[in-house]
Amino acid sequence: MKKKRVLVIIPHPDDAEYHAGGLIAKFISEGMEVLFLVATDGRCGSYSQAPFKLTKIRRQEGIEGANYLGAQVEYLNYMDYELDQAPVGELREKLVRKIREYQPEIVIAEDPFQKDQVHPDHRYLAYMVSDAINFSQLPNVFPKHLDEGLQPHYVIEKYLFTEDPLRVNKIVDVTEFVEKKLQAMKKHQSQVEFLVEDVLRQAKSAGLNEDIIPLGAQNDPFQLLAYAILTQMSEVGKTVGYQYGEGYRFSRFHPAIETILQNNHS
Ligand SMILES: [Zn+2]
Repeated sequence: MKKKRVLVIIPHPDDAEYHAGGLIAKFISEGMEVLFLVATDGRCGSYSQAPFKLTKIRRQEGIEGANYLGAQVEYLNYMDYELDQAPVGELREKLVRKIREYQPEIVIAEDPFQKDQVHPDHRYLAYMVSDAINFSQLPNVFPKHLDEGLQPHYVIEKYLFTEDPLRVNKIVDVTEFVEKKLQAMKKHQSQVEFLVEDVLRQAKSAGLNEDIIPLGAQNDPFQLLAYAILTQMSEVGKTVGYQYGEGYRFSRFHPAIETILQNNHS
């Protein structure tokens, strides 16, 4: 039987593991095939590394993180923090094309309609993915794809990760996959260090001493990151009785079809 395919579309090399590592590990454990599509090169994620060197490091970390989970990864190589400077419409076309090539039953990406997303790459990509996954089934959208032999494709399940509780309509129990998610995140060593350094710099700006950071994180930044990830997943999970959960804005079919499906099941 053909494996179900999952396409994960994210702006930076660590975003899949960080935001959806539990769900991805769960899908892979169920025998699905998973591809990460990373839009940018991640060159801005450091206070000390030069852009070119960091791009190489993050590309390798991305491969290791994906492979650890059992996924494949491809890069679009747009410049980090400047994704919205790409020629208008170019990214949307590339995403529709990838969906028609890969024909995923499931897409995981970010919810464009959540509040408080401050990163321009995250905001821009979320909108472009939404445009792509909701229209890639229409033959008159980019008809040149059909001339090239590609087929229109309807993505059935859309899992959009969000930290906005008002947007979450599905919480996935990822308790069994927490360790896998953390270890995949650990492959992004440059980002583990960067995220903690960022917090320490903010603490300094606030006039606080570095020793406010718990768990000896100055010596082992991963401990602090793991603590933050676990705390967040525990908060999400406990609202529905799971030890650890990931929150998504989930959609599948038109509401009328969902109602018919539900009535048929009950
Ligand atoms: Zn990111």
